[in-house]
Amino acid sequence: MGIRIVNPLLHQALKYAAAGLPVLPLYEPRNGGCACGDPQCKRPGKHPRTRNGVRDATTDRETINRWWRESPGANIGIETGGKSGIFVVDVDGLPGRQSLRRIEVEKGTLPPTGKVLTGRGCQLYFRTLGRRISNSAGQLGKGLDVRGLIMGQFGGEQARRVVQGSGMSGAP
Ligand SMILES: [Zn+2]
Repeated sequence: MGIRIVNPLLHQALKYAAAGLPVLPLYEPRNGGCACGDPQCKRPGKHPRTRNGVRDATTDRETINRWWRESPGANIGIETGGKSGIFVVDVDGLPGRQSLRRIEVEKGTLPPTGKVLTGRGCQLYFRTLGRRISNSAGQLGKGLDVRGLIMGQFGGEQARRVVQGSGMSGAP
């Protein structure tokens, strides 16, 4: 007999996968730097550990189990765009909020959707509903970025809301 220790990161990653969100392991912040070991790392704690990067994202439980067995502390990345059918709008600071308001005035209030608070604003999750959404920075408006790869640990409730999130009307 023994105590079954479940890695909370693995547990969360499997939850996303079960909800249909492809995940991949990212390097995690370490000692004020990045676990990749490069002191000049440009994206500490935010870049993929796998060779093909975001293209390796999967919902396959076995692969996910192996990844977190090899790197138990790995941050969780969620692929957005292609396979997952979701995309993220990063609302950055006051300019982002103002741009969002302007879009709502022009196109109508956005449907309720998954939302995650970030250091400087929030991330809004939408279903692509089969449309192709490419990455862009500031194209929707100042302070609004559309992201193809997002990272972090989000609560199960947020993951559930992402999955149920409705489409964004009037998005380009
Ligand atoms: Zn790094």
